[in-house]
Amino acid sequence: MSSVPVAVVTGSNKGIGFAIVRALCKQFPGDVYLTARDPGRGQEAVAKLQEEGLRALFHQLDIDDLQSIRALRDFLKEKYGGLNVLVNNAGIAFKVHDTTPFAVQAEVTLKTNFFATRNVCTELLPLMKPYGRVVNVSSMVSTSALGGCSQELQKKFRSDTITEGELVELMTKFVEDTKKGVHEKEGWPNTAYGVSKIGVTVLSRIQARMLNEKRKGDHILLNACCPGWVRTDMAGPRATKSPDEGAETPVYLALLPSDADGPHGQFVIDKTVRTW
Ligand code: NAP
Repeated sequence: MSSVPVAVVTGSNKGIGFAIVRALCKQFPGDVYLTARDPGRGQEAVAKLQEEGLRALFHQLDIDDLQSIRALRDFLKEKYGGLNVLVNNAGIAFKVHDTTPFAVQAEVTLKTNFFATRNVCTELLPLMKPYGRVVNVSSMVSTSALGGCSQELQKKFRSDTITEGELVELMTKFVEDTKKGVHEKEGWPNTAYGVSKIGVTVLSRIQARMLNEKRKGDHILLNACCPGWVRTDMAGPRATKSPDEGAETPVYLALLPSDADGPHGQFVIDKTVRTW
């Protein structure tokens, strides 16, 4: 078993994830795994970094596929005996003018951004080694979407005692409510992406609390963040940040030094903790 530290970035064949891997290759003292659902696109991305003189390793990972997540889990367990850095970056967003029915957009978006990200956490968080760092890439859209929720929902999402089970129930209810055409009446905002990222931010707050309860003394730090508005296939060419600039906050959180006791359980933008 290798004692080399290991970092994994989900959805990193392009965009912000790719830039996070690039930065980690330069700064992380260990093996960095670029992961992709499509091995061809993943290997191509690894080759691109190699041309820049950077060494990333590849492992397949489709976060929508539990078997794929578990294969990565078993590989990490066997080869490294755990994991030091996990960046949950993989995500999807329908384009603003997409005419796919809202209920379908809600189901598909929540499936990847919330439920699949949660599955990755369920399988990989138990592998985190002491002083491990976990970064869940959310979005500032989660904050605006929270503001668009009813007072009752806002209270639940800001609660310091909400459980993972309760959050899963709420995310499931959102999808169901869109299918029944009652999501607005039920206090939800009109953004599937926004609700999925509320899920990611709140999940991060819950997971950090769980780490405090169950693994106090292991010094693991877990946070949600927004990379900013970044020029990728998702956000388009008019966005203000380059992918490398978008990677800065996630990488800062992934490389928090071993003597840092925070941030933890926070929502971070531009390396600054924001009120949720
Ligand atoms: P992007 O260029 O579209 O890249 C998304 C990445 O996620 C791709 O590598 C994609 O792989 C991967 N992915 C999607 N579904 C996956 C799955 N089921 N399993 C594994 N990988 C999957 O988007 P981006 O702008 O870099 O976004 C990265 C993250 O930042 C997302 O979580 C996004 O919500 C968040 N974010 C972005 C912005 C922005 O302005 N760009 C702002 C706030 C937050 P394929 O190539 O196979 O599709």
